[in-house]
Amino acid sequence: MTDTAEIRSDRPLTFTIPARDVRGRAVRLDRVLDEILAAHAYPPAITHLLAEALVVTALIGSLIKQDGGQMTMQAQTDGGTVRLLVCDWREGELRGYVDFDGERLAALGANPSLYALFGQGYLAITFDRSGEDGRWQGIVPLEGASLAEACESYFAQSEQVPTLIRVATRLDGDRCRAGGMLVQHMPDGEEGRERLAARVEDPSWDHVAVLAGSVRHEELLDTDLPLEALVWRLFHEEDAVRVAAGPVIVRGCRCTAAHYEQIIRRFPASEQAEMRDANGQIVVDCAFCSRQFCLAL
Ligand SMILES: [Zn+2]
Repeated sequence: MTDTAEIRSDRPLTFTIPARDVRGRAVRLDRVLDEILAAHAYPPAITHLLAEALVVTALIGSLIKQDGGQMTMQAQTDGGTVRLLVCDWREGELRGYVDFDGERLAALGANPSLYALFGQGYLAITFDRSGEDGRWQGIVPLEGASLAEACESYFAQSEQVPTLIRVATRLDGDRCRAGGMLVQHMPDGEEGRERLAARVEDPSWDHVAVLAGSVRHEELLDTDLPLEALVWRLFHEEDAVRVAAGPVIVRGCRCTAAHYEQIIRRFPASEQAEMRDANGQIVVDCAFCSRQFCLAL
């Protein structure tokens, strides 16, 4: 058994408030964020954006119960300064990257809004569940002041689940810190995807949303404060809050030369020939890791 009272970072704390039909997640990214960001040399605005996206991915990804399930978050736009942001989660393995136009970004100033970064974009969240649930994808317009807000809209529009998400990110010199919390109203139980309509105006949910929304940025970022203590601080008046440890989060990428060779071998020889460079080699980039693989094909 993990001592949940000790969880501070790089591992989500899961919690439920049974009397309120609420489930939640809290997480901070520390060492694992350093590792993911170290593969890139992103300017501050993109570092903040990716850190926020990774926190949201860890919060939403850790909602998946089944082993082997994967969650992918993709924010995309035509003609935006940011062209593509991708993050995914699989059983604690977390990764992400951003594709953007550096010159246009520099012209936006220090704190560009979500709209300035993406323009008219969309947000796609995909759950690949092992077992009978299979693949499920929801797509919503990328709207709101932040990625976290866009994800709240995703849950409201695509899943009809009232959801509150708070994320904080901070750059201390070269180091980025990030943390966040998610609470959801699950009036018909956690497996309620078939439910007809959630009770949108529920005073019990409103109460929890106000408490969760009162969390301060410093609390989300302060690694001296265990996540369980933070949850108790917010919800100490509730009769019961049940907590459990989520999976340890690591930087995870499936890129190996063998993995890419397996994929490329599925293409006909004529298409493989087109992939070869001037030296006759097939070179593949992993955008998540900023690594190149020269394949033995
Ligand atoms: Zn990789």
